[in-house]
Amino acid sequence: MIALKRGREKSLKRRHPWIFSGAVEKASGKAGDTVEVRDSSGKVLALAAYSPSSQIRARVWTFDARQSIGVDFFRDRIQTALALREALPAAKHSNALRLVNAESDGMPGLVVDRYADVLVAQFLAAGVERWRDPILDALMELSGCAAIYERSDAEVRKLEGLEPRVGFARGDRNASRCPIIEHGLNFRVDVEQGQKTGFFLDQRENRQRVRALAAGRAVLDGFSYTGGFSIAALAGGASRVVAIESSKDAVAIARENLAANPLDASKIDFVQADVFKHLRLLRDKGVHFDLIVLDPPKLAPTAAHAKNAARAYKDINLWALKLLAPGGLLATFSCSGGVSAELFQSIVAGAAVDAGAEAKIIERFGAAADHPVALEFPEGDYLKGLLVVRSA
Ligand code: SAH
Repeated sequence: MIALKRGREKSLKRRHPWIFSGAVEKASGKAGDTVEVRDSSGKVLALAAYSPSSQIRARVWTFDARQSIGVDFFRDRIQTALALREALPAAKHSNALRLVNAESDGMPGLVVDRYADVLVAQFLAAGVERWRDPILDALMELSGCAAIYERSDAEVRKLEGLEPRVGFARGDRNASRCPIIEHGLNFRVDVEQGQKTGFFLDQRENRQRVRALAAGRAVLDGFSYTGGFSIAALAGGASRVVAIESSKDAVAIARENLAANPLDASKIDFVQADVFKHLRLLRDKGVHFDLIVLDPPKLAPTAAHAKNAARAYKDINLWALKLLAPGGLLATFSCSGGVSAELFQSIVAGAAVDAGAEAKIIERFGAAADHPVALEFPEGDYLKGLLVVRSA
């Protein structure tokens, strides 16, 4: 049971799924227990998963106190999440989709990505950890997939007092190279060692957008990981592509991905380097590009990191704008929860001023539709991007 302090039920009434420690008057139970959440008058507002060691003390399963949290509940939620994906256009264009997007699919702390017939699951909160087995069983049955690889090794598990866990939870496969097809392009996903669950599915439609813009352009792909944007750009007719990525393993897979597609490999140059340094080097060489993609890692996980992150975002955007030929395009992204879309836009605006570049926003980007954002959970809206054109 969780009893809230007087007046601290407001966010729950708006259906926000998190209960912070500061709102809790008293609580009892063990990690992962389903608890009733009561307001100061004793009225039950929600059923939630208790997490005594986390600042997020509980995550709501349901606001309907008559529901019972058990095997059927999770089966239902998974079925609902899968039905949403089946109805998406993306389901026709790719066999790699995010099937469960945590809070926004009513399963706080659970992320499930599908890579062809392999699922990758992350159990990131005490509640879903408790229900791990029934969730895995329901995923196998309802998705029809052959195996589930668990990547419960994200840092946030520590905040929940949970140890990391990785490996096949169901079935078995070659986990280091799962072949997927995205908009007709072949990629290999390393679900064992790759970043996050192995591939950045949230950028799928933005890669497709870059592909449509790339014809005849010299492209720079900053933070290229396994070559997603680079290969899309080449498939779209880019005249050449320079891809910069610091991880040796990611560059190795990027080369494999390139070889897996019928494209002219001589047009891509994979550079294993630090983007911050390499942009300056390219500038010193006097090179210019017609389309630049910047997709850095999460520089500000929370608002507390925003200031340092802002400096880093400004730096790369400034150098990218300097490298951009007149009329050139910059597709620039931030996946930092701690940097709002508004702040990101003002950072890019500041970068343009300092670069002496006149530029305009012509499109805005977000995460693909298989990463829904529940309206009551704005924290789920982490990915933002701008397509900026540099005036001629
Ligand atoms: N655009 C990619 C995803 C990029 S993820 C896609 O569509 O698949 C961010 C990448 O930046 C990671 O691969 C990470 O290894 C790399 N990275 C992080 N810091 C870097 C740096 N300073 N220089 C170059 N690459 C960096």
